[in-house]
Amino acid sequence: MSHVAPKVGFISLGCPKAASDSEQILTRLRAEGYEISGTYDGADLVVVNTCGFIDAAVQESLDAIGEALTENGKVIVTGCLGAKGDVIRDNHPSVLAVTGPHATDEVMGHVHNHLPKPHDPFVDLVPDIGVRLTPKHYAYLKISEGCNHRCTFCIIPSMRGDLDSRPIQNVLAEAENLAKAGVKELLIISQDTSAYGVDVKYKLGFHNGRPVKTRMTELCEELGKHGIWVRLHYVYPYPHVDEVIPLMRDGKILPYLDIPFQHASQKILKLMKRPANSDNVLGRIKKWREICPQLVIRSTFIVGFPGETEDDFEELLNFIREAQLDRVGCFTYSPVEGAAANELPDPVPDEVKEERKERFMAVQAEISAARLAARIGQRLQVLVDEIDEEGTAVCRSYADAPEIDGLVFVEDAAGLVVGDFVEVEIVDASEHDLWGERV
Ligand code: SF4
Repeated sequence: MSHVAPKVGFISLGCPKAASDSEQILTRLRAEGYEISGTYDGADLVVVNTCGFIDAAVQESLDAIGEALTENGKVIVTGCLGAKGDVIRDNHPSVLAVTGPHATDEVMGHVHNHLPKPHDPFVDLVPDIGVRLTPKHYAYLKISEGCNHRCTFCIIPSMRGDLDSRPIQNVLAEAENLAKAGVKELLIISQDTSAYGVDVKYKLGFHNGRPVKTRMTELCEELGKHGIWVRLHYVYPYPHVDEVIPLMRDGKILPYLDIPFQHASQKILKLMKRPANSDNVLGRIKKWREICPQLVIRSTFIVGFPGETEDDFEELLNFIREAQLDRVGCFTYSPVEGAAANELPDPVPDEVKEERKERFMAVQAEISAARLAARIGQRLQVLVDEIDEEGTAVCRSYADAPEIDGLVFVEDAAGLVVGDFVEVEIVDASEHDLWGERV
């Protein structure tokens, strides 16, 4: 019996965590025999996965919903902005359904209501690893949803709820499938990676018949066995982070830590209600580097948080001078609807915020540039992300996470393909990127 499979269009907006939700929904759609359409007019309905993190993302999401309604007409909305259903219904009353983030089952329920399942699921069309949106050679591995903290500038917990760790056996099975499918780099994501397992009291799970605790160190030990790159994102400096530094030194996981410090002044950190906010961070960083000299640290900071005085800001500048972080992002504080920080006194005027951001970036730019320049002459293993039109291999080293950090350009790409590891000697550096020659 032949039939035409129903087709679903899919728009995925937002952060890597949202992309991971999209992958789960796409995998289910494919598993049930739906086809995924790349165009609006070829689709029977459209799912839009939205982002609600900052106002610009809200607008982008609303625009995408509007476009899908005009071009197609049948639209199901999911994702972070979906958690604020009113905003969507007020702007676009004709959407078929709205769900929040991490709602694969609900989304599938709405799809079934409006576009019945095909009779013969083409289950065999789904690869073991599901459907992924990132290039084949790296993959995001989400280990938990939600967050137990209540940072005053953040509304993620109110949208995604408290920490909900995925069972360790599921995470490890997914990682194993990805590694078997040829993935070369796993990017571990969550809202709070070092808190993994706290909610389930570090419960034991079983992987390949062995007991493994639902805990960051044990997770890293297991992931380190695949012989591929494992990179940790969103790590807060709880005491047990010390345990993963030797794994980095021994090459089990990448010596790379993404720690969103956000500020250095104790006063501001308290106002922000940041987790693991201790005043010996500099001492910890020093100790980590003694154990693992190649450790690279990336971080983000917020300047112009309510109550931030010139002294607090100076303290932050001193911190970054001292900490010598490798990669740093800086944002000016902007109020997010629903965030507790909106109620704080002493807002910083916009021009002061901008001026502080510029001063911050000027200090950090010199540090980042000097740290990159120090790489000249070093030999590094790099992973090929792309071969561009000029035949240059666009690569990354262990020090660079995709999309947020820098690149390593290798001009002689003869014989290289995307996903190859190659050994290079660094010959030049800019403020962000490096150039290497094959050895
Ligand atoms: S740790 Fe803070 S910033 Fe991160 S998700 Fe939780 S509440 Fe938001």
